[in-house]
Amino acid sequence: MRLFFFSIYITLNSLNLSFSQSIKLELSKKNKVPTNIILMIADGAGLSQITAATYENGNKSNLENFRVVGLQKTHSANSLITDSAASGTAMACGTKTTNGTIGIDTKNKFYESILKICEKKGYNSGIIVTSSIVHATPASFYANVNSRAKYQEIAYQLSKSEVDFFIGGGEKHFTKRNDKKNLMNEMKEWEFVKSIDQFDSSTSKKVGYFISYEEPPSLIEGRKPLLDIGLKSILQKLDSRDKPFFLLVEGSQVDWGGHDNDLEYVTSEYIEFDKAIGVALKFVDENPNTLLVVTADHETGGLGITSGNVKKFNPKGRFSTKGHTASMVPVFSIGLGSKKFSGIYDNTEIFNKMKSQIE
Ligand code: MG
Ligand code: ZN
Repeated sequence: MRLFFFSIYITLNSLNLSFSQSIKLELSKKNKVPTNIILMIADGAGLSQITAATYENGNKSNLENFRVVGLQKTHSANSLITDSAASGTAMACGTKTTNGTIGIDTKNKFYESILKICEKKGYNSGIIVTSSIVHATPASFYANVNSRAKYQEIAYQLSKSEVDFFIGGGEKHFTKRNDKKNLMNEMKEWEFVKSIDQFDSSTSKKVGYFISYEEPPSLIEGRKPLLDIGLKSILQKLDSRDKPFFLLVEGSQVDWGGHDNDLEYVTSEYIEFDKAIGVALKFVDENPNTLLVVTADHETGGLGITSGNVKKFNPKGRFSTKGHTASMVPVFSIGLGSKKFSGIYDNTEIFNKMKSQIE
């Protein structure tokens, strides 16, 4: 008997899991404690962006904790060079589509996103982004529109969606509308808060926090870092409910730094995103029935790191375009079902792999 317990002790120790964690993991494997899914997308972050941010961050990244790494091909239905609408749709809905389109394929078929599918299975859901909440990447997870530029329509669809928590910019698309509606007044189930502290202390069923009226500014221009504490707060809320959840986190502005060919813009935004990865990793560690996937939707800027000081780890780079490129982007995964994400595959497989985890 003593030997039996001793060997359990050794096993647990070697896995680096606490006893309660192991129990949770065993339960989730055997008896279907449903998988929580956290999908983190750094828009426009290819390998060079990640590398530059890692060096700029003192040669360290939370991504170094991941053991499963894959690559995804990002081309859209009509272009080798995708935009964020087509790549967002691929990951959210599992179909290739034309650039600019959200949640609809080339034959005009409408798709349910992974967020919607999760909600139908009784999940809760949340979205936290550093762009407006109606921007192409988050919109791919709750909207179906033939043009990503239809922000007011996207806002309307969010107001009717199942999403439970959101943090992001773009309040004006809800309140200053051509149809004269004020969606914030119409969203009766929702509480809208004006600060992260209010968000954190709210006990409402659905909570929204607009961090800006227009698009949020960059960190360099004075946006307060929010992705890590915002994520922590949403995770606490989701974890306190007796349901599994789907959560989308986007470091939206890595892409905008790429479009600006501004390496400091890119690395500062990615370092904020990396802090949020740290928060998500801690959650996975404490909740082994969670799948965490960290990726990008495409590379932006055709960035190469061409010089820099090895003692100071200050990378210098050159961009080869003001637009996106077709480079494959890495996929980092950890937690329940993470092994599925190794290898090389199409961006639509991100959807399929997540979906297979909740079936
Ligand atoms: Mg985006
Ligand atoms: Zn872009």
